[in-house]
Amino acid sequence: MDAEELKKTLLALRGHLTNQQESIRNGALGDAALRDLGRTPLNFAEQASDEQELDLMADRLTASSETLADIDDAIRRLDEGMFNVCEECEGEIGVRRLGIRPWSRLCVACKRRIESEGES
Ligand SMILES: [Zn+2]
Repeated sequence: MDAEELKKTLLALRGHLTNQQESIRNGALGDAALRDLGRTPLNFAEQASDEQELDLMADRLTASSETLADIDDAIRRLDEGMFNVCEECEGEIGVRRLGIRPWSRLCVACKRRIESEGES
């Protein structure tokens, strides 16, 4: 997955999440749909080429403003060419990890370390 592709995915996902948040605010989604959000892990590596796929992905995401902020941040880092640089160790964030969470800011090793230290 190259930067161009990743940005396209993030922008599309952002749009879908924004729509989803609107729907939730407007009460268009029922309680059951809300409970289902975020249940299934995402895997962007399996490619979101068409609209339907993206819809599915967005549906599986918890429509939190935190996720939106993370996506915004990822888009900014993409523009700076820093999207795959870990904020902690400045090492490279693996393509595999970015495929699952394109807005990852930390490499797997740093993420694990920070989590085990009890920080978020
Ligand atoms: Zn790191």
